[in-house]
Amino acid sequence: MKDSLVTLKPHLAGLLHSIRLRLSLWFSLVLALILVLFSAFVYYRQTQDVRESSVARLLVRQRDLYGALVAASREQNTGTSWPPDSSVDFDLEYEEVFFLTDPAGQVSGMWGRIIIDQAEQVSAKMKALPPNRDSVRAISFRMDGRGEYLFLPTPLYGDNRLLGWMVLGQPADPLGQLPRLALTLVLGTAFTLIIALAGGYWLADRALRPVKTMARTAQAIEATGLNRRLEVQTRDELGELAATFNAMLDRLQAAFDRQRQFTADASHELRTPLTIIGLETDRALAAARSSEDYRRALHVIQSENAFMTHLVSELLTLARMDAGQVALKREPFDLSDLALEVAERFAALAANKGIRLQTGPLPELAVAGDRQYLSQMIANLVDNAIKYSPARDGQWVRVETAAGPDQSAEVRVIDNGPGIPAEHLPHLFNRFYRVDSARSHNVDEAGPAEQPPGSGLGLSIAQWIAHMHGGRITVESQPGQGTTFRVILPNDCRSI
Ligand code: ADP
Repeated sequence: MKDSLVTLKPHLAGLLHSIRLRLSLWFSLVLALILVLFSAFVYYRQTQDVRESSVARLLVRQRDLYGALVAASREQNTGTSWPPDSSVDFDLEYEEVFFLTDPAGQVSGMWGRIIIDQAEQVSAKMKALPPNRDSVRAISFRMDGRGEYLFLPTPLYGDNRLLGWMVLGQPADPLGQLPRLALTLVLGTAFTLIIALAGGYWLADRALRPVKTMARTAQAIEATGLNRRLEVQTRDELGELAATFNAMLDRLQAAFDRQRQFTADASHELRTPLTIIGLETDRALAAARSSEDYRRALHVIQSENAFMTHLVSELLTLARMDAGQVALKREPFDLSDLALEVAERFAALAANKGIRLQTGPLPELAVAGDRQYLSQMIANLVDNAIKYSPARDGQWVRVETAAGPDQSAEVRVIDNGPGIPAEHLPHLFNRFYRVDSARSHNVDEAGPAEQPPGSGLGLSIAQWIAHMHGGRITVESQPGQGTTFRVILPNDCRSI
């Protein structure tokens, strides 16, 4: 018993909080209100009808009895004495009552089942009515045990003076129509409401079934298994909700997938140098080596360390970007100044490789942006241009700026290096994407690597910086001829 109560309770609570029940209750409440108003209207109209037909009947009977009354008073005493006494027998219909009063309303004779008390009360009511001789004034009066009666008073005149009143009474509703109608209306209303409540609940249940399905599916979806989708195919509001929910799941899944891919790629990138360091130390320690061998091993370790340091700092930048923790510190400066500064920083590196680092036209370009991030963006592009150009004569890298259309500002990094095959261009800005899928850093047996090798993150970071400034990066490349990276910063980055 206790157990069943325990299981019943949450069920009951769920039912009470369910939209289905509330919907059907509200629906029934509104319907009840309409039905009550409608019933009241019907009942009121029927009351009027019954009263009107009763009055019509009374008028007919009034004429009959008036004739009988005149005849009786003539018969009794040649018309001078008024009123006829109660011994005169009038021909009354079933449940009909009849009494006479003097002009002051004093009861002077009664016929039918009526007592003096009742007749006097009716007479008092009659006197209380404002005088109006034109319209028919029926008086309703409740007779003990016999329900509502209608009394119709008629003034009696003789020799141009009021002799008294003839008051005729009949049951207001002789056929008992009104109680029957009331019962029918109450039963009809109750019956309709029960059906409406049950039907409303059923309808609401049917309409909201997809919500239940959606809730169940949503419960079954976990962060790790985001591949399930809601199956609401309808084109109504719920279908729209399901589609929105599914679209959100798509985005979440894509984000999770990206995250997973990112972690996997990052781990993979870090594992390679760690493995190389491990192998190199094992080899060095396996036997007594010459100092030259040790130097070489340390160079390898240094190079891998430089790669990892660079990679970790890039990963940190990406993590901050993803977390939305990066706030740009916008300040006004000359973009050409910045481009020149970056080019100067790379001059030694380029010279080392025999590459001519030139600066093209650098017109004054006032912009408002984060100087440090924009510097990193240009540096990544220049770094790539030098890194991927072969160390041979005639190689050059040029950095230039220009004012673009609509007040935009442009930085171009151009090289005549190996270029990038067209099929790689659409993926170039993806994280960890490298044209040469083998690791692009090779351990230089002869000495330390001159610069950290590529991790495939430089361009995605550069693109993110451009996006944060509302701008974009484009790339044009001809394999064998060279590559041009173009950063376009929109006019709201310009400070006039
Ligand atoms: P990485 O850190 O490996 O340089 P990036 O995202 O900066 O990664 O570049 C992605 C790839 O694009 C590089 O692996 C390289 O193959 C190619 N790339 C970038 N810039 C140039 C360039 N100026 N010339 C030729 N290839 C380039």
